Amino acid sequence: MSYRISVDSAVCMSSGKCVADAPDVFRFDDDEIAEIVPGATQPADERILDLARACPAGALVVTDVDSGEEIDVD
Ligand code: SF4
Repeated sequence: MSYRISVDSAVCMSSGKCVADAPDVFRFDDDEIAEIVPGATQPADERILDLARACPAGALVVTDVDSGEEIDVD
């Protein structure tokens, strides 16, 4: 199993949680919406799940790389 995390920019509410927890992975864009740091290494699966669950807006999308399906993290 291999997961990939991404930001749904339309849902992000700029809480800064992911940027604070994983500045190696997330940063703010010019509109203070989270985005993946260019070239960032994807975290391990368990960390991806933890990060996604910690987003107060549910804006962090977890995808199964193999199937392409979105994972329900709740
Ligand atoms: S934790 Fe969620 S709402 Fe907060 S900045 Fe990151 S993606 Fe946006």
